[in-house]
Amino acid sequence: MKIGVLALQGAFREHRKLFEDLGAETTLVKLPEHLEGLNGLVIPGGESTTIGKLLREYNLLQPVQSLGQEGFPILGTCAGMIVLAKQILGAPEPHLGLMDITVDRNSFGRQRESFETDLDIPVIGSELFPAVFIRAPHVQKVGEGVTVLARYNDRVVAAREDNLVAFSFHPELTGDHRLHRYFLDIVEQA
Ligand code: GLN
Repeated sequence: MKIGVLALQGAFREHRKLFEDLGAETTLVKLPEHLEGLNGLVIPGGESTTIGKLLREYNLLQPVQSLGQEGFPILGTCAGMIVLAKQILGAPEPHLGLMDITVDRNSFGRQRESFETDLDIPVIGSELFPAVFIRAPHVQKVGEGVTVLARYNDRVVAAREDNLVAFSFHPELTGDHRLHRYFLDIVEQA
């Protein structure tokens, strides 16, 4: 299985390591030709406006959009969640606009810019998941086909819509492989 990690900006190295620990092959995606032969793609955390701008500049926006529409598995974490969303509160237009969610950027406020908390995510088992939030977005609204995977203080922070998975937090930073395993299972089934 070969997973592409979008490497335009942000926390891509850590994702790569976790997937390789799980036995997947990984490749860094910076150009459209790097999408060839992949079974799944990760859009990491970072800064969504920058990632969106670079996706356009490197002619990746349209090919990734087409893949996503065809059922190709894509995981977005933090800024990646914002890049996947169909609607971004306060923004005139989305980036990839693939996933039927409305996101609120930076929704956890200044006083809590970064924090770690243990989340209950039933799809990966009963043991709580250590989640690191860094200027994290949350999902303010989900469309009909979207399954909520986790909430933090009543806010949706993890969701799935068929081949698309999004987390508000950074699952690549704590060394817990379960959410990467969860995504690989979706890739295997696709
Ligand atoms: N809130 C940031 C954004 O708008 C995302 C922060 C992150 O990825 N750690 O892009």
